[in-house]
This record gives sequence, structure tokens and C-alpha cells, in this order.
Amino acid sequence: MKFIHKAFSELWPEEELKHEITVKYSGRFSDYNANVTYTPWKMNIKLSKAWRGVDEDIRIGLVQSLLVKVFKSKKYKDFNKSNKMELYEMFLKNIGSVAPRKESHPELIESFNRINDEYFYGLMDMPNLLWGKPTLTKLGSYEYGTDTIVMSSSLREAPLEMLDYVMYHESLHKKHKFYHKNGKSYHHTHAFRKDEKSFKNSEHIEKQLKYFLGKKKVKKAFFSFWK
Ligand SMILES: [Zn+2]
Repeated sequence: MKFIHKAFSELWPEEELKHEITVKYSGRFSDYNANVTYTPWKMNIKLSKAWRGVDEDIRIGLVQSLLVKVFKSKKYKDFNKSNKMELYEMFLKNIGSVAPRKESHPELIESFNRINDEYFYGLMDMPNLLWGKPTLTKLGSYEYGTDTIVMSSSLREAPLEMLDYVMYHESLHKKHKFYHKNGKSYHHTHAFRKDEKSFKNSEHIEKQLKYFLGKKKVKKAFFSFWK
């Protein structure tokens, strides 16, 4: 179980993991449960089957959170909280708000294919693509755990390039994930913004978007991420 050792040494680089470890997926848990049982020599980690489809970084974050529970002694009191643990916590916080799996919508598949060809050489794996509520304060969001982009239904009336622009923005979240420092998470990093600007006519579309949202009598609109 190489990845467990990786998970461990990220938290405690100075220590060595001496336990014999097994990891099993179990159908007996509901939802996203997991547990760990251990003796001084052995550790058994059990995850519900639902974890199988979840991003590996988030699974590592889960395992790290379990390890922190196991190693409570003084020696392990101080550890570097990893951004994977943060991902895991955010995943759990948001899992309830994720729409049940549905078929990706054809209009959104077309939009994704356009931006994938244009900006990612067609190399990005297609996430799940769903229409959400017609909200104007959040035009799109990306959910790491289920690899889902949800687009506000208000964009159904918008010009295609606007739809594509928001789709591109959310795809960049899939590409960049996020970075974590001193207890804060950064989603829209410099690298992210730089990528975002490479969208054709991005400044013009930003203006159009403001106008589009303004017409709908919303004072302030912005892309938010898991708010
Ligand atoms: Zn964003």
C-alpha cells in the first residue's frame, strides 16, 4: 500500500510508518463512511464502496484524517495539515449538495467539447455536466469529489461564447485544483487567472457577462466556488 506511506510521510516527514496496513472497500457501509481499526502492529482501513469513484487526492485526504485519529500520541501531535485533507473536508461538506447523478446535458457536452478542443488540445476528460438552478450569483461550479460541473440555468439564454467562457472557467478548476497555505485555500491563483485570460476575447466577454447579469437586475455577480 504505497499510497498510505505517501499519505503518512506527508504528515510526518520525520517518522516512519511501522504498521502493516490493509485497505478494503466494503459494501456494508452507507454513503461515504470509513473506519480504521488497529493494534500496535497492524492497521485495517475500511472504506465504503462509494469512495471508489472519488478523486485519489480526496481519498488520500480521507486516509490522512484517519491516520491523525490513530496517531494521537505526543510524538504525532504536530503535523503538517495537507491540502488533501482540506479537499477531503470540503468534499464531505459539499457532498450533500451534489445533485444525484444524471446524464450530462447535450448542450453542455457540446460546450465542453468546444473549449476542450480549443484550449486543452482535446485532452481533458469530460466531467459530468449538469444544469443547476437559474442562479445569477453563481454561474458555475466545479465539484472535485464527483467531478461535476454545474452550470446555472440562467446561461441557457446567454450567447454561446458566454456559456463557453463559464464552462472554460470551471474546467480550469478541474485542471488547477487548488492550493492550500496557512489554513487558507486558493482557487483563483495567478496561474489560473493567466489561463483564464487566454480565452478568446475574454475581456469583451467579461463585459458582456456584466451586462447580461445587469439586465437581470443583479448588482454584483461573480464566479464563486463552493460557497
Ligand atoms: Zn472559479
